[in-house]
Amino acid sequence: MAEINVQEVDMDTIQAVYPLPLPPHFSEKNGILHIGNIPVTKLAEEFGTPLYVTDETRIEALYHEYIHALSSHYPNCRVLYAAKANGNISILRTLAALGAGADVFSAGELMLARDAGIRPEHLLFNGSSKTKEDHQLAVLHGVRVSLDSEDELYQLNRVAEEMGKTVEVSFRVNPAIHVPTHPKIATGLATSKFGIPAEQILSAYQKAHEASHVIPVGIHCHIGSQILELEPFAEEARVLMDIVSKLHDMGIKLKFVDLGGGLGVAYRHGVEQAPSIAAYAQATIPVCKETFKRLGISPEIWIEPGRSLVCDSTILLTRVNSVKHAHKRFINVDAGFHTLLRPAMYDAYQEVVVANRMDMDPNAGEVYSITGPICESGDILAADRRMGAVQAGDLIAVLDTGAYGYAMASQYNGRGRCAELLVKDGAVALIRRRESIEDLLSTMRRPIWQ
Ligand SMILES: *Cc1c(COP(=O)(O)O)cnc(C)c1O
Repeated sequence: MAEINVQEVDMDTIQAVYPLPLPPHFSEKNGILHIGNIPVTKLAEEFGTPLYVTDETRIEALYHEYIHALSSHYPNCRVLYAAKANGNISILRTLAALGAGADVFSAGELMLARDAGIRPEHLLFNGSSKTKEDHQLAVLHGVRVSLDSEDELYQLNRVAEEMGKTVEVSFRVNPAIHVPTHPKIATGLATSKFGIPAEQILSAYQKAHEASHVIPVGIHCHIGSQILELEPFAEEARVLMDIVSKLHDMGIKLKFVDLGGGLGVAYRHGVEQAPSIAAYAQATIPVCKETFKRLGISPEIWIEPGRSLVCDSTILLTRVNSVKHAHKRFINVDAGFHTLLRPAMYDAYQEVVVANRMDMDPNAGEVYSITGPICESGDILAADRRMGAVQAGDLIAVLDTGAYGYAMASQYNGRGRCAELLVKDGAVALIRRRESIEDLLSTMRRPIWQ
């Protein structure tokens, strides 16, 4: 299991991996963590905390790794970045410039992706609960829609008819396979709200084939997120290929097969292992290639990575407000679940380091829990970690926060959302400013009787 919540721990047995293995965009000089060759202490002083900092070169490198791995098996591959993982338009622009498409889940994500320069034919509008306006937007922009039910097929057909256009679609298949991840992010289980059961899928395609303003051109699947095993992806590919063969027999010509995203990352450095991108490609693409060859077809293969493309590019910097020795040792920091929801939402483990004193050996220190400023006892960023003697004013870096980090931030407890920086080869850019008290008030209105 990727994410385990340990309830009762024997403090004495807790050890830290030290020094912690870090990806190549990090370095350490004079005990200070650097990202993209910039000391994080300087970034925190200039821009304040909490603060997300992303290294653009890391995202570029991982995108190239995906393209290389996929195209070494099959030439016709495309990466559609799952925009929900990190929706900052600068990140979308980084990926657009490299030729990426995007998996979008809302009108907002669709518009951001278009603004970032992603071509409409490289977008797929996903989601199990779309509105009429969502459908109109997709038809207007010529963006393909992944349909999640037969009901949605009829609704989209009506919208396209009203607009005097046709729209290309895929169906999202529910492959009903076991997905080894946190239940809240397993989407390919038979019981999940997503997708159409495999036994109903052929009839859905038949209806789409007969519909007046909809053309079925793709098939789509996404089994879940933070998956650290390859077999579920191979199984998914086999389920899809079985359907692709049957669709071929029905005379439905597919332009794309979309395997979705879901490849996990190793949040526990030096302890956990994630499959490489190359191994992911090896597990999935040959399965498709074999079926394509037998049928004499060559549709594009799409994949939709979110987390595995952007997660480790980013750190969250948070300042220590105070240290308390109660029944446990607590480090009170200025980031909480309004800044990073994953630990509270999924019991997720995030690696933490004392970014201004990286040379302090944690195993000579104490066991602490790092807690946020939110008025909830579940506001714990990291539970029971052995760390050096942390003091007020120290700077903690939470690693691997590029995916589902800022994207899930909120204004809970009357706290504006924090700022985001992009760094590249020594350059720094503010890509989202910190929200102010005025920002909190800006959408509120006064009733006339007050
Ligand atoms: C969330 C999502 C993804 C991305 O998942 P990751 O685990 O971040 O790679 C891809 N496709 C769809 C349809 C999604 O909902």
